[in-house]
Amino acid sequence: MCGIVGYIGGQTAVDILVDGLTQLEYRGYDSAGIAVLGPSGAKRVRSVGRVRDLEAALPKRLAGKTGIGHTRWATHGAPSEPNAHPHTDVTERIFVVHNGIIDNARDLRLELEADGVELTSDTDTEAVAHLIARTGADNLEDAVRQTLARLSGTYALAVIDTEHPDRIVVARNGSPLILGVGDKEMFVASDISAVVRHTSQVVHLDDGECATVTASGFRMFNADDNRAVAKSATTVDISPDDLELGNHSHFMLKEIAEQPFSLERMLSGRLDERFATARLDGLNLDAQAMRRFKRVKILGCGSAYYMGQLGASLIEELARIPADAEPASEFRYRNPIVEPDTLYVAVSQSGETADTAFAVQEVKRKGGTIVGLVNVVGSTIAREVSGGIYLHAGPEVSVASTKANTHMAVGFALLALALGRVRDLSITDGTRIVKGLKALPAQIGEIIDAPGDVEQAAKLLAEAPSLFFIGRVRGYPTAREGAQKFKEISYRHAEAYQASELKHGPLALINPEMPTVAIVPDDELLDRNIGALHEIAARGGDIVAITNPGVDLPESKVTLTVPKNEPELDPILLMIPTQLLAYYAALSLGLNIDRPRNLAKSVTVE
Ligand code: GLU
Repeated sequence: MCGIVGYIGGQTAVDILVDGLTQLEYRGYDSAGIAVLGPSGAKRVRSVGRVRDLEAALPKRLAGKTGIGHTRWATHGAPSEPNAHPHTDVTERIFVVHNGIIDNARDLRLELEADGVELTSDTDTEAVAHLIARTGADNLEDAVRQTLARLSGTYALAVIDTEHPDRIVVARNGSPLILGVGDKEMFVASDISAVVRHTSQVVHLDDGECATVTASGFRMFNADDNRAVAKSATTVDISPDDLELGNHSHFMLKEIAEQPFSLERMLSGRLDERFATARLDGLNLDAQAMRRFKRVKILGCGSAYYMGQLGASLIEELARIPADAEPASEFRYRNPIVEPDTLYVAVSQSGETADTAFAVQEVKRKGGTIVGLVNVVGSTIAREVSGGIYLHAGPEVSVASTKANTHMAVGFALLALALGRVRDLSITDGTRIVKGLKALPAQIGEIIDAPGDVEQAAKLLAEAPSLFFIGRVRGYPTAREGAQKFKEISYRHAEAYQASELKHGPLALINPEMPTVAIVPDDELLDRNIGALHEIAARGGDIVAITNPGVDLPESKVTLTVPKNEPELDPILLMIPTQLLAYYAALSLGLNIDRPRNLAKSVTVE
């Protein structure tokens, strides 16, 4: 979950480390630290808070061309300076940064204490530094390998050693780690955003792999048997500008605004008008294989799970295949039944979500077919699945996901269309959906350019301590995602309910202090939804409605309209105002929109 960065080469390491940590801050941001190997030995600086707090704590001059840095997302011990990484051993020879969780840390810590080692932090990571220093191995690589053999759990590790200042040794098991290849310099990072400013050449480590990284290159080897691993760099096409705020006030708003263009890019080349279907070569499934599936099971976490629910309903409607979504975090622990004629779909923006990655492995281990809907090219999940649909949303920096969600929903629409068109979806209906998909980017642009009274509605909602989001059938996943976004960044309790279920319990909560955001598409269920609004209004509850033009909702206090598309695709457009509501509510509350408390962007720990 945290950010790791490392540098070795001809430049002053601290500048590159701090810059890299700033880029990675969305991964975790409760404390940060660096360690640099300079002419006068090692220097470590750590601080609680954001990377800028670390920057303020740095000495004016900090020489050294080898170093490692970390932004932490605490799992073991409070966010405090002693718990911040890098951690070191008693002689301050070895420095370690770590992403993940060492499951047997308690035993290792007890063992070290029994041996007289005075531990200075509450973390699992500190034990790793002591163990490496105490192996007695001749070289750092062997010391790291011998230590890894004693660890259970997940880790991406970067290690430096005052006795071997010419190298960084790294290891990966279950947490992402990449190398950036420069000209007589090398970078280490937990994701690409930390290195894109310096190089587009990237090497991905796989689980069980280690590497020795020097200024002139890298050598990869297996953790267990030391066998050399041959790997070459791949080129990534992210421009540093994608990671800049530009003239936007927040990344969230920037990413909301990018959706019309990013979707256009995602759809280009993927719509086949002649056969009224989607071209999804990356799935690696031919028509015969696609017809074989009797069920679709979608696995994701958080917003990706809600988009999975939206996807399941698209697949059922368009392809008439029973489909459902389940949190990958639950699936992985419940000994799931994996069937050969079910298509499993893993959804993740980062492609590094640990729970989803594990669910993928579980499906594969049981012989199931699993494909991915992933944004980050070359990420763990993207490499584990047998095929998939890259989302091409571009980098998403804001912790609260917006454009990646929309791309997930559109990815499912493409999948549903392709599955439908090898089955019973008619060419007429296929054409209707192709046209609808083509219209989406411009329609999203219309909502963003003229969002109506969204700021006024957001203020009304932000004043309430608690609120409902309701939707029915197709609109329900949109309501769930709307509530999720709202609570993530405004810290208000927001609960999603099926509009149909309101009268079966939650109506008891409606009063003038409890507003409701209602998703009201202009579809065959409109009358039913209007009925629910009457019930809320009759109990004095304020309503913010998101609907289509021409729908008259006198009960609603603020009505936001979005252009009409096809009924199956309307939930995607209805979601855009919920992004803006969450944004403006958090803005009116003066909260840290891009870095909400307690959260991190890619959840690479369990
Ligand atoms: N488990 C480690 C800690 O709590 C690392 C957490 C992280 O990935 O930031 O310090």
